[in-house]
Amino acid sequence: MDSALPNYQQAAKLIAAYAAERSRQPPAVEQLALEHCSGRVLAQKIVADTDQPPFARSTRDGFACRAAEASLHRPLRIAGANRAGDAPSGPLPPGAAWEIMTGAAVPAGADAVAMIEQVEAAEGHIRLLAPRILKPGENIVEQGAQARAGDELLSAGSTLTFAQIALAASCGYARLDVFARPRVAILTTGDELVAVEAEPAPGQIRNSNGPMLAALAAAAGGDPWVLPTAADNAEALDASLRQAADADLLLLSGGVSAGKFDLVEPALSRAGAQFHFTGVRIQPGKPLVFGEVARNAKAGLRAEGRKRPLPFFGLPGNPVSTAVTFLLFGAPVLAALAGRHEFGPRFALARLGQKTRKQSLPGLTRFLPARCSFNPSTCAEPEVALVQWQGSGDLAALAQANCFLIVPEEAPHLDPGALVRILLC
Ligand code: AMP
Ligand code: MG
Repeated sequence: MDSALPNYQQAAKLIAAYAAERSRQPPAVEQLALEHCSGRVLAQKIVADTDQPPFARSTRDGFACRAAEASLHRPLRIAGANRAGDAPSGPLPPGAAWEIMTGAAVPAGADAVAMIEQVEAAEGHIRLLAPRILKPGENIVEQGAQARAGDELLSAGSTLTFAQIALAASCGYARLDVFARPRVAILTTGDELVAVEAEPAPGQIRNSNGPMLAALAAAAGGDPWVLPTAADNAEALDASLRQAADADLLLLSGGVSAGKFDLVEPALSRAGAQFHFTGVRIQPGKPLVFGEVARNAKAGLRAEGRKRPLPFFGLPGNPVSTAVTFLLFGAPVLAALAGRHEFGPRFALARLGQKTRKQSLPGLTRFLPARCSFNPSTCAEPEVALVQWQGSGDLAALAQANCFLIVPEEAPHLDPGALVRILLC
C-alpha cells in the first residue's frame, strides 16, 4: 500500500504545481502605512522617483580632487567645502581640492575623493601621502549608479522586510498597496485535547497545535483564525467544517491516521472533498492529506462570494509531524495564496558534526529535528547535529531544533563530516 503513496519529491512537485496555479489569481489589495508593512506582500511596483544616488556622492570623509593631480603628491589648495545636505557646489578649480563629508555631493570637476587619513593638511593645502595614489572614481558613487529614475526596483509579490521597506521609503512611498492576508482556518481535532489554560485530567493533554499552527501560518503570510477544537465524532467534524467554509486555507490537525477515531478524511469526503494525496512517504508526517473542497456545490461548503475551492491540509496530530508537514507542504501553498512570488520551502547544506546512528528508514524521506550552528568555529560550513528526541510527540526536542536534518530515502547512513541537506524553519 505504501508504494502507492507519493514519495517526498512527487508530493513536493504536486504542491509546487498547485501553488503556481493558485498564484495566478492574486489576492485582494489593501493599502497600509509603510511602518505597518513589515512581513506583508507588495501588490504594486516600487519605482525609483529619482536617480539613486540623486547626485555623485562621496563615500568617505576627505577631499574631492582630480585623481591624476592628487597622485603626483603635490600640494592642492583647498578651494571649498561640502557637507552632507549642502547643495552640490563647485566647480573644482585646477590644482585644487574640495573638503567633503561622507554622503555629500561631489563638486563638478572632481573625479575621486582622497580619504582624510591618507592626506597631510597644512596652510590651506592638502597633499596625498605617497605611495598612495588615487584612481578615477575612487570613493565616489556616481549619480544613478544604483538606479535610474523610472527603474522598477521591486515587483508585486515581493515580501517586504527591512530592506524593501527602506528602499520604498527612499523612493517616497509613505503608503503601499499590499495583498490582503489569506484567512487560515485552524481546526484541531481530538477528544483528548483541553484548552491551554485548563488543567488536563488524566489522559488529557493541552492543545498545543492550535497556537503552533497559528504561529506557523502567521509567519508564512497568513491571517490565523483558530476554530474551537472538534471532538472525534462525525457530527462535530461536519459542523466545524461548515464553519471553516469562509477561509482561504484550512489546516486540520489530528484524526488522519489509520485509528478507529481518525474521522477527518471521511468528514472531508462528506463535504465533497477531492483528495490530491492521502499520505506521503516521509517520516514523521506520513498520514498527511491534501485536497480541496468545492464551495457552494451540492455537498460542498457554503461561503458567500468565494468561488475557488477551499484547499485543505489534514496534518497528523503529533506536533513534530504537524510542524514538518506544514513547513514542507502547507507553507508553499499559503505563500502562493498570499501573493508571494517565492513559495519555499527553504533548504540549505550543512556539515554533519556528530556521529549519528543509522537514521534511514527504507522507502521514507526523514526530517529529523536538528540544531544548526550558522557560525561554527571548526569549519567553513554551517554545522548541524540531531536533537535527541523521543519521537514525533516530543515538543521539548522540537523547541530545541532550528531546522530538520533530511535523511534521503535510500541513504545507507550519514557519516560525520558529510554534507547534508537541512530544512530551515
Ligand atoms: P492523531 O493524529 O489524532 O492520531 O494524534 C496523534 C498524536 O498527536 C496523539 O498523541 C495526540 O494526542 C496528539 N495530538 C493531536 N492533536 C494535538 C494537538 N492539537 N496538540 C497536541 N497534541 C496533539
Ligand atoms: Mg486524534
